[in-house]
Amino acid sequence: MERDIDLKEISDGRLYTANDMVKIDCNDCAGCSECCRVVEDTILLDPYDIYQLTCGTGMDFNGLMEGSIELQVMEGIIVPNLKIRPNNEGCVFLSEEGRCTIHGYRPGFCRMFPMGRIYEEGSFKYFLQVHECDYPNKTKIKLKKWLGIGELSSYESYINKWHDLTKIVKSILKSTENDDIIKNLNMYLLNLFYVTPYEVIPGENHFGRFERQFEERLANAQQIVRMYG
Ligand code: SF4
Ligand code: SF4
Repeated sequence: MERDIDLKEISDGRLYTANDMVKIDCNDCAGCSECCRVVEDTILLDPYDIYQLTCGTGMDFNGLMEGSIELQVMEGIIVPNLKIRPNNEGCVFLSEEGRCTIHGYRPGFCRMFPMGRIYEEGSFKYFLQVHECDYPNKTKIKLKKWLGIGELSSYESYINKWHDLTKIVKSILKSTENDDIIKNLNMYLLNLFYVTPYEVIPGENHFGRFERQFEERLANAQQIVRMYG
């Protein structure tokens, strides 16, 4: 999802690709879990995040809705986010020892942090959010390694496709006051990309397996969205 941001205020002024070195390596977050404690409802989940969570927890979307995720409306679109514990005690997947219990299956937002994405001309670049991680003496690391996603170029292509689709849907929803269209389009996308279970192999986090299923769903969605556009 997009935010109106002034890059000059929150970044070092540079845009990065996955092959660039960035000064964000924080020694495996040794002794720190700050960003997992202050997340509120800000970790928005895309379909691959749900796929990863299903691989890592064994729960499908409905199972995750029982305590790990919840829904919010962002720019007119229903989107899931990670839940936090009662009394603002941090992400539901943060252990008492301050470690992520789903590290190998964590969402894209968590993998990127403290990087963000900025979209332009059908693609995106990464930027460094300089006020987001105070860990001292960070060292440089290749962004690709930091993200820890196999098949990264395919993943980035998926991110672009998902962004393009949601951008079109947002513009359709913004241009109508017809409650039926708003509800039906939202429920269609929620069911198609999130609620309908993905085929997973528990414990395996394989982007290619997700990508094949996503592409099928995307082709169907594009047809339906064209009818509304
Ligand atoms: S604030 Fe920085 S060092 Fe602390 S947990 Fe987050 S990324 Fe790691
Ligand atoms: S999923 Fe893991 S990395 Fe992400 S906010 Fe929760 S505990 Fe932190």
